[in-house]
Amino acid sequence: MSFWVSAIVELLAYLLIAALFSLMWGHFFIWAFGALLILLCHQFWQLSILVKRLDAYKIKGMPNSKGVWYWVYFYLGKVHQRHRQTKKRLGNLLNQFYKSTATLPDAAIVLNLDDEIEWFNDSARELIGLKKKNLGAHVLSVVNHPLLVNYLSTRDLSETVVITSPVNKGIFLEFRFLVHNNDLRLLLAQNVTKLKKVEDVRRDFIANVSHELRTPLTVIKGYVETLQDTDDGASTFLTDSFSRMAQQTSRMEGLVEDLLLLARLECKPDEDIESLELLDSIDVSEVLARLCLSGDGIDTLHSRLNLSLQSGLKIRGKAKDLESVFTNMIVNAMKYSDEDSKIDISWKVVSSGVKFEVQDYGDGIAEEHIPRLTERFYRVDVGRSREKGGTGLGLAIVKHVLANHDSKLIITSKVGEGSRFSCIFPRSRCC
Ligand code: ADP
Repeated sequence: MSFWVSAIVELLAYLLIAALFSLMWGHFFIWAFGALLILLCHQFWQLSILVKRLDAYKIKGMPNSKGVWYWVYFYLGKVHQRHRQTKKRLGNLLNQFYKSTATLPDAAIVLNLDDEIEWFNDSARELIGLKKKNLGAHVLSVVNHPLLVNYLSTRDLSETVVITSPVNKGIFLEFRFLVHNNDLRLLLAQNVTKLKKVEDVRRDFIANVSHELRTPLTVIKGYVETLQDTDDGASTFLTDSFSRMAQQTSRMEGLVEDLLLLARLECKPDEDIESLELLDSIDVSEVLARLCLSGDGIDTLHSRLNLSLQSGLKIRGKAKDLESVFTNMIVNAMKYSDEDSKIDISWKVVSSGVKFEVQDYGDGIAEEHIPRLTERFYRVDVGRSREKGGTGLGLAIVKHVLANHDSKLIITSKVGEGSRFSCIFPRSRCC
């Protein structure tokens, strides 16, 4: 019997009883009204039982009702059964997930919205030193490293952060933050010690080679200068050759200096970021005004520069390294734009900190080159860069210095319209 058949049968049964009573005592409509009232009360009573059961989530073992209520409880039972099956399936899935993540070589920590530890795997015990008692604690109370604090506050999911393990300083862990639903977040830590060692060997090799090249280069440069001094100009070929030799040796000298600087920036020790107080307090607007208006570091064509500097905004950092960042970005804007085009330079407060920006109206850069510009020796036009005296290392240096100052380079550009190079220093760096 379907729901509607049951409903009609029930209704007719009540009306039939009313008809029987009216046969004996007359007044069919009064008896029918009474019967329907009883039916309505019965429905309300059944409904109240159902509401009570739903409120207490007591769906199992529903009363053995007749009529329409049989169907209501029948379908509720079905829904409950399906719900139990899904719960069981999800439970099994969750168990499988826990088992598989428990054996992962990477540390996995499940965090809630407040960054408190909800769950962690065996590798997290081993690599980070997490214990059962840490469940419910804030993750930073266990791994309190300034880089991780900064990483968790910015929540830039495209980035990762490498720090030493809190239980073993010889282990390097790369932390990656993943959001896998609205409430739960996963913090993965991969052991990158081997990779870090290979990186260290590569960096030391380049630093050593550059260092070894420095002495012979200084000697060659000295000889070339002596040759140029003693040149009487009788042979244009010789004069020309000496000049080219001088040019190439200074280019090589620039390269060696840049490679050494990069090696130094890459092996920045952890203590640097831990002791912000010990760093220089830099009045950036003053530095920029000096660089741009004195004509020392920057091209003498400083009339092209349009300065908009908010004074008194100081940041903590390494003055020499930051000067090289500002110089590099401004010199690039000059190199890759027409000699008479303007360059806007600004230093101002923004919502997330303080922003340095250089906007030129020159060549511009095609979109596909932008992500690669900070790679060593990557140049959009190698010939043009060489002709302008570039080493191809400038932006790689900029990237490293900025990373050491909790900032990063942001590049936006349109071919033929110009480029904008900017970086934002966080409030924690302001002083
Ligand atoms: P380089 O010494 O060649 O200038 P950089 O690392 O400073 O090396 O820059 C890398 C490349 O990025 C440059 O060769 C150039 O192609 C491109 N580039 C940098 N700044 C600009 C700019 N303002 N406009 C156009 N291209 C730029």
